[in-house]
Amino acid sequence: MFHVKHLYYCYLLCKLTKNSVKWGFMKNIVAKKKYGQNFLKDEYVLEQIIQAMPNNNNKIVEIGPGLGDLTKYLVDVKSVEAFEVDADLCKVLQSRFENLIATNHLTLRCGDVLQNWKSRLLDEPYDLVANLPYYIATNIIQKALADENCKNILVMVQLEVAQKFCATSGDSDFGALSVIAQSVAETRLIVKVPPTSFDPQPKVDSAVFLIEKKSSRNDEIFEKFLRVAFAQPRKTLLKNLSSVYKKDELEKFFLDLGLTQTIRPHEVYISDYHQLYNLTRSLDATREHGAISSQRE
Ligand code: SAM
Repeated sequence: MFHVKHLYYCYLLCKLTKNSVKWGFMKNIVAKKKYGQNFLKDEYVLEQIIQAMPNNNNKIVEIGPGLGDLTKYLVDVKSVEAFEVDADLCKVLQSRFENLIATNHLTLRCGDVLQNWKSRLLDEPYDLVANLPYYIATNIIQKALADENCKNILVMVQLEVAQKFCATSGDSDFGALSVIAQSVAETRLIVKVPPTSFDPQPKVDSAVFLIEKKSSRNDEIFEKFLRVAFAQPRKTLLKNLSSVYKKDELEKFFLDLGLTQTIRPHEVYISDYHQLYNLTRSLDATREHGAISSQRE
């Protein structure tokens, strides 16, 4: 008789031999680490995701439907366009959702979502709802923030990443991602999720969080400015920015904005970041080569 311990041995063996975890042995499906495959098996969390979905008429985009366990819930609520990179999983999905695909209630795109994503992923308004592959989660969220057809983002990511997007000024997690997201949206942590909710289990805790967008902003220079501002989070903001701008000019701006010279990057309000950025832009314009735009990536 097959016992749960055999599944565990199988897991260890596959881990040692193939750098991937055999999952769903009856379906002959292998969970591929390189695609960040951790399948969500917790019904409670799946229901929490559905309950947190914004109430509107937007289409749903799911990135990485995997075996379709979240997709199954999503198609009950709305029509879905799903992007899956793994050709093996695409076959599973095609057979599992054959009827819904035939009626165009579910559109399945097989391939790397990042290859398809120019400035807009769809030509119509959509909400992104997904258990994201963690290795590209931040990149996907940033693209969705800049995509003007993406209206809301409800995603499962590594807990640490969710906390960065949701942190407010003063929190130790407050950083460039918090400023970028909260300049155009409201962010909210929905639920923390332990590794035991997945198969195979990830090594880290996860969380579902919601970004309700008010607008879209795609200002790469502002993002570069923030990277400089938060380059060394424990140093003062003045010190970080001094790596690019003249200190005496910065000191004047800090005085005008009522910022102390000892303030740390995580203690500054988002509105102050925008004001500081606008002031430094006037400096860039007076120089032959813009200070921030000449920074290396
Ligand atoms: N949604 C499923 C679930 O909740 O059980 C699977 C989530 S799993 C964390 C991430 C999924 O994203 C996998 O199915 C993986 O193959 C897919 N994926 C990884 N990289 C991708 C990419 N570049 N484009 C599209 N899908 C990708």
